[in-house]
Amino acid sequence: MKENMLSKIKNKVKYIMSYLYIIIIIFISTFLNVDFVNSNEDLCILEEIETEYRSSNSETNVSCFEKRIIKVLLLYDYGMVLDKEWEDNIRTRFEEINKFYSSSFKIEWQIVSKQQFRFDKNIDNLSELFSLHKEDISKIVNNSKAEVSLSIIQRDIKGVGIAATFSNVVMVADSQKFNSYISSVVVAHEFGHLFGAWHTQRKNDFMLFSGAKQLRTSNESNNILKLMRNYNFDPETIINNDVILNRISRLYNRHHAKREIDPVARLLTDAGTKLYIDKDYKEAIKLLIKSNKYYGKWGETRMILSKNYYELDLLQDSFTEYTRAVFFGSKPDKQYENKLKKKFIDLQKIDPSINNPFILKN
Ligand SMILES: [Zn+2]
Repeated sequence: MKENMLSKIKNKVKYIMSYLYIIIIIFISTFLNVDFVNSNEDLCILEEIETEYRSSNSETNVSCFEKRIIKVLLLYDYGMVLDKEWEDNIRTRFEEINKFYSSSFKIEWQIVSKQQFRFDKNIDNLSELFSLHKEDISKIVNNSKAEVSLSIIQRDIKGVGIAATFSNVVMVADSQKFNSYISSVVVAHEFGHLFGAWHTQRKNDFMLFSGAKQLRTSNESNNILKLMRNYNFDPETIINNDVILNRISRLYNRHHAKREIDPVARLLTDAGTKLYIDKDYKEAIKLLIKSNKYYGKWGETRMILSKNYYELDLLQDSFTEYTRAVFFGSKPDKQYENKLKKKFIDLQKIDPSINNPFILKN
């Protein structure tokens, strides 16, 4: 009994002493004016948190960022020869791109390997060529030591550069062997899309919607690049992270980007399209509905949503979304439309009370 009491008292004394220590430390630090928050490292953390909430024209301290090297796989068209002129120009272009990226975002792009790729020769449009090969190229990157790819097409083709938002695939067309500064701007611009950057109307910004001419950035592109500069170019890692998705979307909304689709909607619709191809219709619908919540005026989301509903025999929803898709600027898919129409006609044969929305009543 006595021993027990003694140990209880001992414990109490220990407890009080530990509190005393803490109070003494706090007292000393206040007295000596030790300002923990003002250490350099913490300032950098504060900067990062604040970046998103900054008012315009304020500069984030780039020196706070850790230098990031991004490994690039260079793919060039089959039959194309990377001669000395090409090699020299590629080097010069990457020097220009890196000067810009490293002073603005402390990022450096580094070509780690080069290989040929058989791009379809019959396509005369860069965006079609991109859609055709995008998935295959992405897989090649995933199986390499590179993080992103840069494909070069050296022939006359409609379009200059293209990239998919948050992906690891960039494609540029250049029949002049990268011989001018503009090629640097094009590549830097397409790399920007990989971080989720959208097009801006600001003339002095490398993310200008069309014909950017300089490697400069405004607050608009600056914010999204700085938020996403450590992104690993794998959409799977952010698709379920609502905190980061909402932060991206808030930045996009704050800058009132005209005629631009919310990058989060792009990300979700891309993923929904993949699920549709894999016949996982229910999951696809979930992502596409979420995409519409971020940006509801994109025909592409509505079209693919309609097709998912069709596969699950939700024909009324399918019709509604198809109509909306066309309303929001999607090209009508006649083949699919006829399939849907026919489904309604077949259903009416079984149950005449079913309403066929394609037939307008007086
Ligand atoms: Zn662009």
